[in-house]
Amino acid sequence: MLKAVRGFKDVLPEDMPYWHLLGEEARSLFESYGYREIRIPVLEKLELFQRGIGSTTDIVEKEMYVFEDKGGELLALRPEATACIARAFIEHRLDLKHTTNKYYFFGPMFRHERPQAGRLRQFHQLNVEAFGVRSPSMDAEVMAMLYTLARKLHIEDAVSLEINHIGCAKCRPIYREILINYLAGQKDKLCKDCKRRLERNPLRILDCKNETCKEIALNAPRIMDHLCDECRRYFEETLDFLSVCDVPFVINPLIVRGLDYYTGTVFELTTTELGAQNAVAAGGRYDNLIEELGGPSVPGIGFAVGAERTVALMRKRMKLEEKKPTFFFAVLDAEAKRFIIPVVLSLREKKIRCEMEHEEKSLKSQMRKANKLGAKYTVMVGEDELKKGKVTVRNMKDKNQFEMEPSVENFLRLVEENP
Ligand SMILES: [Zn+2]
Ligand SMILES: [Zn+2]
Repeated sequence: MLKAVRGFKDVLPEDMPYWHLLGEEARSLFESYGYREIRIPVLEKLELFQRGIGSTTDIVEKEMYVFEDKGGELLALRPEATACIARAFIEHRLDLKHTTNKYYFFGPMFRHERPQAGRLRQFHQLNVEAFGVRSPSMDAEVMAMLYTLARKLHIEDAVSLEINHIGCAKCRPIYREILINYLAGQKDKLCKDCKRRLERNPLRILDCKNETCKEIALNAPRIMDHLCDECRRYFEETLDFLSVCDVPFVINPLIVRGLDYYTGTVFELTTTELGAQNAVAAGGRYDNLIEELGGPSVPGIGFAVGAERTVALMRKRMKLEEKKPTFFFAVLDAEAKRFIIPVVLSLREKKIRCEMEHEEKSLKSQMRKANKLGAKYTVMVGEDELKKGKVTVRNMKDKNQFEMEPSVENFLRLVEENP
């Protein structure tokens, strides 16, 4: 039997109510904040991610699907969307076309991770990116939007907004040296990955999942204590605006994010309910990304929401079911079909969910099928009904049965009476 590729998963129709709710709530919320949808390709040039995300990050070093196409070009399946949206922003000169540049995107990402740890190699993210504004109230607004999304999905009790500030080009290098000095003293105890990170990307050691590294990180010097005055003020104002927005948060000095492009504000929406995969959403400010990718000097901030993890939390809190048919048309034969098909089509055009039996089966077995499908009404068209030009309608809940003219209006009235 042929099976799906490891780490790639089908989303079946019975799961879709959660995905639809997530998509609908996100879309209407993001649009109320003035974000516009953008769609980007699945494939990009490898160079985009090397330059955008950073060549020493785990994603670029180990996790990307990279291949050479027939023209000899090195391509990568996108492992995240921020660099792609930034690329689109630069390519189309969107900064010149629009006064506000706020975008959202929903789609699959690809990372070659270990499936045994419950990680998917194709997973889905909701992305939000705002270009052109650098202000503490903007940062707070972006986080407020994320928190509101959690509230709209009824998972706010499962998550906590953790925030940190990772400094600027002025104060981060100083902190980096202080951190390296501290970590160098404990080098022997660090895990293999972190030993390597020490020189190249020491901040990443702060969010290593290894237990010993975690302990070392806990006692490490904190960036908060080494921020320059400007960064400190920016961070304090951001926290103040978060309170104005009535968003609960905790400061977590260990949040550094795994991507090179972050500057200043970084945040995560974390949960303790999904084992080791504790980040449901993550984001931050990236004021140099656009320029580093060859665009104008434009700041930015954004976040990504992990759709599978969000759906897992939603599942624990609510039971959503697929929509059931309103009418099931049980038809005796071809003549009965010809009699009722025009009505069925008209009702469907009015967005009323109808099923009609196509195979030749007894009315009794069709009734069983209607029951199984959870139809509200079964509409029977048998010999008697055809003679009278009427149909017999059975309310499947109270078993009440009556005859009526099969006009579209009559069916619509039933829908109204029993929404
Ligand atoms: Zn600074
Ligand atoms: Zn480590």
